[in-house]
Amino acid sequence: TLSEELQIAQGRFVENNPLSLKQFKESATFLPAIAFKSGQGCHLTSVDGHGYLDILGEYSAGIYGHSNPKIIAAIKETIDNGINISHNSLEPILAKHIVGRFKSIELVRFTNSGTEANLMAIAAAITFTGRKKVMVFCPGYHGGVLSFRGKNKSSPINVPHEYIFGKYNDVEGSRELIRENGKDIAAVVLEPMLGSAGAIPGSKAFISTLRDETNKAGALLIFDEVITSRLAWGGLQGELNIMPDMTTLGKYLGGGMTFGAFGGRKDIMNLFNPTISGSHTHSGTFNNNVVSMSAGIAGASVLTKDVLRQLNELGDQLRTRLDQTFKNKTNKIWISGIGSVMVPHFSKKLNELTTQEIVTVEDEQLRDLFFLDMLEERIYMGKQGFIALMIPMTEDDVDRVVKAVEKWTDRRKMFL
Ligand code: PLP
Repeated sequence: TLSEELQIAQGRFVENNPLSLKQFKESATFLPAIAFKSGQGCHLTSVDGHGYLDILGEYSAGIYGHSNPKIIAAIKETIDNGINISHNSLEPILAKHIVGRFKSIELVRFTNSGTEANLMAIAAAITFTGRKKVMVFCPGYHGGVLSFRGKNKSSPINVPHEYIFGKYNDVEGSRELIRENGKDIAAVVLEPMLGSAGAIPGSKAFISTLRDETNKAGALLIFDEVITSRLAWGGLQGELNIMPDMTTLGKYLGGGMTFGAFGGRKDIMNLFNPTISGSHTHSGTFNNNVVSMSAGIAGASVLTKDVLRQLNELGDQLRTRLDQTFKNKTNKIWISGIGSVMVPHFSKKLNELTTQEIVTVEDEQLRDLFFLDMLEERIYMGKQGFIALMIPMTEDDVDRVVKAVEKWTDRRKMFL
């Protein structure tokens, strides 16, 4: 049975990775996950000495590949010149890069994480509109304390806002919710494509409805582009040609160091300008720390427009080939995503279901078996299937992944 095979695969994993497991037990982590000791390009080495192809890419923070020499050199140079210089000359350089890339961002501020960026954007929306309600979508993920993935919609450790829960990609339902709550809604927050919650693209109809309805209701539209900003030079907002009032960013834009940013319309961001309004403070000891700033600037010189385009084309290639592989062998697995970010889903694709329901029927055992079997093939992806390609990846690496998945669909055909 599937659960027996899963147990056998787990046993084999433990046998092959005793040091990884030991390390995890000692660190009081309960996941039987793997522990790595180093990374170069798109390759990782586990503490047990096995080499892996990394297709997780640190959920996006690792887009440049591990140990990118330009970024490492920039960090080293910075460290040599003092690590705690909050009034530094680097911040405006990175800010200029971000404002230049994303059309809707007129002013930007830095944080230490994507979570903080979302917290600040929501706080700004509440002050700006003088309203309290925050509309989010299920499933959705905007940080550890802004998680709307579970069956109960909202995690008990979430920041206690007055949430309204919409269903992702539900055009009519969302329109109704905004109209019902219109004058109370401060902000509608969403990823224009679900990232770690399943790489499901938001339909143009869905997102443009949210834009129209928030405009009518006087609520702010906030795009969380922490992940999706990598899908096009101008972010997914540029691709869709739908401009939010505010945008949050994070992950790779800090060059792989701790990072977040929020920005948007000048009139909103002026809340933080003490010479204009000053009604909001945004203090934070490490908000513009020189290590993240210099890594981000170096990262921007690595991730040019062309490099970004090529990476997303490579991702399209991988996703198209995996889609074909699954289609040829089973109707139980399908893959979604855009460009270099994708997630295979271990469920029947039922078009009539909403996104939330599709994700709920996921066959977790089959997904876990796939994850473990891919580890056996020395391919490392997110435990829940998340894949985010890195710049050093080549077509040969894409080939390797496709062949491993083809082999898997034969090996496990009794479960497909
Ligand atoms: N928003 C999205 C879409 C994310 O994927 C994440 C992290 O996974 C966050 C926000 C939170 O970012 P951080 O982990 O830097 O707090």
